[in-house]
Amino acid sequence: ATMPPLLAAIANAGRQGVLVKSAVVMERLGTTTKVAFDKTGTLTRGTPEVTEVRVLDAELTREELLRLAAAAERPSEHPLAAAVVRAAQREQLRLPPADDFAALPGRGVTARVAGHRVEIGAAPADVEVQPGRTPVLVRRDGDPVGLLAIADQPRPEAADAVAATRALTTEPVLLTGDTAAGAGEIAERVGITDVRAGLLPDDKLDEIQRMGSAGHRVAFVGDGINDAPAMAGSHAGIAVGGAASDLTLQTADAVIVREDLNTIPAVIEFSRRARRVVT
Ligand code: ADP
Ligand code: MG
Repeated sequence: ATMPPLLAAIANAGRQGVLVKSAVVMERLGTTTKVAFDKTGTLTRGTPEVTEVRVLDAELTREELLRLAAAAERPSEHPLAAAVVRAAQREQLRLPPADDFAALPGRGVTARVAGHRVEIGAAPADVEVQPGRTPVLVRRDGDPVGLLAIADQPRPEAADAVAATRALTTEPVLLTGDTAAGAGEIAERVGITDVRAGLLPDDKLDEIQRMGSAGHRVAFVGDGINDAPAMAGSHAGIAVGGAASDLTLQTADAVIVREDLNTIPAVIEFSRRARRVVT
């Protein structure tokens, strides 16, 4: 017996390293009209590096600032947090314990370190760092004490995958919590012109719904960190990476197990081909 075309498409997708959860999802992928990408950990490698440590309060040394920041970030699973911890480890700094840790999705983290309330997160839009760097502000007991600039690289295949997505007339869009300055350079390097920056997780969902009201069917591609609302509210939610959390794996409609963004245009094509066979 021959396999129904949508099931054959699911099998093909599986061979490419994309787990598509159902025939309904497989079909939806083919009717997508825009693909919205998250930035950090999705279009980028997700192994960013701290490139600048700027002390803003003369009471603190550079080492003290980095130690405070890394201690507060250590419990976080965010790629930016990992970058801060790695920077401290490189300098062999001893990290004091952090307690009362909380992650604020799309904003940053807060924790109590050495008797101080430390908050780390998105810097105000007017803070200037080198283009393409993500500026992260460190506050101690409410006062800004330091600024970290963090650089992330696009995944090697990101520009090709974006071009292939556009060639299928599914227009790529970038949705990010990063600043416009930080996101703009990555967008340019991967070839996305529609960039929506400074978004909190729920704002990403709003953007997707707004495009939906304008008649678009928007697939969302994310690494899962802070992406649950957009993932759940999109036409098709696609999680990238083996590092995705259980919640993400549950919320996503499809999971890219092999970390290769080219699989996205590939599965859209598989779906369209299957639909042509059906109709
Ligand atoms: P993206 O939308 O690019 O994937 P996120 O939504 O995960 O980014 O985060 C948005 C912004 O919030 C980051 O650019 C950063 O400024 C800030 N942020 C989030 N988590 C952290 C963290 N653990 N440490 C520092 N800053 C963070
Ligand atoms: Mg992300």
